[in-house]
Parts: sequence; C-alpha cells; structure tokens
Amino acid sequence: MKAAVFEQTGKLSIQDKPIPNLASGDVLIKVDLCGVCASDLAALHGDVTDYSPPVVMGHELAGIVVDSRRSDVKVGEKVTVNPMLSCGTCEYCRADLDKYCEEIEGIGHDIDGGYAEYIRMPKHGVDTEKLISVPDAIPAEDLLFLEPLGCCLNAMRETMFDKSVAILGAGPIGLLFAQLTKKKGLQTFVLEPLVHRRDAAEKLGVDAAIDITEKSIGEMIETTSGGVDTVISATTNNMRAIDLAFKVVRRGGCINFFGLAPAGQEIRVNLEHFHYMGHKLMASWAFSRWSLNESRRLLLDHELQFTPLLTDRYPIEKAVEAFENARNRRGVKSVLAGP
Ligand SMILES: [Zn+2]
Ligand SMILES: [Zn+2]
Repeated sequence: MKAAVFEQTGKLSIQDKPIPNLASGDVLIKVDLCGVCASDLAALHGDVTDYSPPVVMGHELAGIVVDSRRSDVKVGEKVTVNPMLSCGTCEYCRADLDKYCEEIEGIGHDIDGGYAEYIRMPKHGVDTEKLISVPDAIPAEDLLFLEPLGCCLNAMRETMFDKSVAILGAGPIGLLFAQLTKKKGLQTFVLEPLVHRRDAAEKLGVDAAIDITEKSIGEMIETTSGGVDTVISATTNNMRAIDLAFKVVRRGGCINFFGLAPAGQEIRVNLEHFHYMGHKLMASWAFSRWSLNESRRLLLDHELQFTPLLTDRYPIEKAVEAFENARNRRGVKSVLAGP
C-alpha cells in the first residue's frame, strides 16, 4: 500500500509499505479520507516535538473496517479513531485527561496513522474505546472532522465567554469555532487576512469577517466598546498574532491561545500591566473522550456545516503537494484520499 511517511524534520516521503498484519484483538481500517492537520505541518517544519518519526502521519481519518480480529467490531463498520491511545487506568486517564497519560501513543504521531491506504487499530486502542463507530449515513467528508471538532469543543468548554468573541484565523479550526460561537449566541468576529477564507466565514453566518488592517480592527474595537470579551487564536501564534490578540481583547477579557506556535515563541508579560488589565490568558489543546462524544453527536445531528471547509483533495501519492497546499493556506482544508 502507499503511505506518506514523516521521516525526519523537513522530509515527508511516499513509500510502498506492506498492509499491516493483525494480531488477536486488532482491527484493520481502510482509509477513505484523512485530513491534513496544522500540527502535521508544524511537525514536518520542526516546530513541535510530540512526534516520533519515522511514522505514517494522519490522525483525522474516516474509514471502513475491512478486517476484525474481535467479536465486538464488525467488518463494514464506518469508523474514525480517538488518536490518543493511553493506558486507560492512571489518574489522568480516569479523569478524561488521556493526553497527559505517561503511556500516551498518538496515532499518526508515534504509531502509523491515516496517510495510508490501511491503518491497524491495535487491540489496546479498541479495548480502551478509542475506535469510534458512526452510522453508514455519515459521509466520510463529515467524519474526518470529528477529531478537529472535538478539539474545538474541548476548548469551548474551557474558555470564558460573555457576549462577543474574535476568532483569529479562518482556517478549518477557525471556521469550526465560528460555527460553535454562533450557536452559542455570541457576537462572532473572524479576523483573517485572506479573502477566500473570509468569504467562507461569511457564508457560515459570522457577524463580521474582517481583514487585519488598522482601520478594520479599529472599527471592531469601536463596535464592541473597547474590545471583544474573548479571543480564540486559531492560527499560528507568532508575535503578530499574539500582538493582535492583546490589541482586540477588552480589559478583563479572555485570550485562549489555541493555535500552535513557532518553536521557541515566547509571550512576555509586564506583570503590573497584566494585573490591572485583568486579562485571562489560557491555552486549550487536543480533545477529551467527552468532547469527541459530543463531536460525534453534533455530526449525527448535522448541527454544523463541513462541506464549505473541505476544499482540496489529493491522492496519497501527492501528499507533499497536499502539505504545500495547506501550508500556503490555499482553500480551507486539504485532505488525502485513499484509492
Ligand atoms: Zn489534528
Ligand atoms: Zn493513563
């Protein structure tokens, strides 16, 4: 089978690999679609370190079970995965904080993921309920968003909201957040330099999708009488994004630095100023079992729109081009498609 392997920083290669062999309790999934995630781009670029190359990347997958060595999973089931395999018994796992488990193994990070024709879901992953089944009627095009949406739902639960919110970036994550904040009844601004992504935000019904010129930002601050209550940064948290977040948040407001950051990026805060501004600074990342369940429910109830998000499809052989496309922010979401 064809697979896109993250070999080392800067090197993604297309390889012919054997279809994984199953042991007792394992499941084999044929991958239909797998989303290209910003964290994969960051890993390839050397900005994040929670990957163990060489590894087949890809953790936002939609597929079908084609072989099962267990009685509780049937061939033909439509599935995705909770890509954080963990021990299931430690303090963190019991508190639904699997991401902090010491035995964490990330699908597409540490063990082979979905940028391949097939993926093996190991026994302990299924035993700890990390294989997620959905009804046949859910299209793969929606299903691949179950994990990213789960990350957004986790962040939504952690963030402090009041009436208005500014989302920095109208990439796939920003556009998921925008739909969630609208559903929550919040006045939703999306700040995005690229016109095609602002258009997508507008089509999804945000209150305003604005460029990041002085003039537009000034107007937004005026409309909100001094700034928004909440900022969710759904973009790379470089100095420019960090400055923008502080510029548009009101006194006492909350900033959630959800996006990844370039390696070595720091925030410097004058503590006295911070104290009197009363800002609430936080970061949310990844998902929980709760948030993936909630995400699954929203998918099944067709509560969100995913079609405007999925813009660019590539076969696995063209993974390098797909990464380039995503890195250059063409379209919104790029995905790899199985044969
Ligand atoms: Zn992801
Ligand atoms: Zn654990």
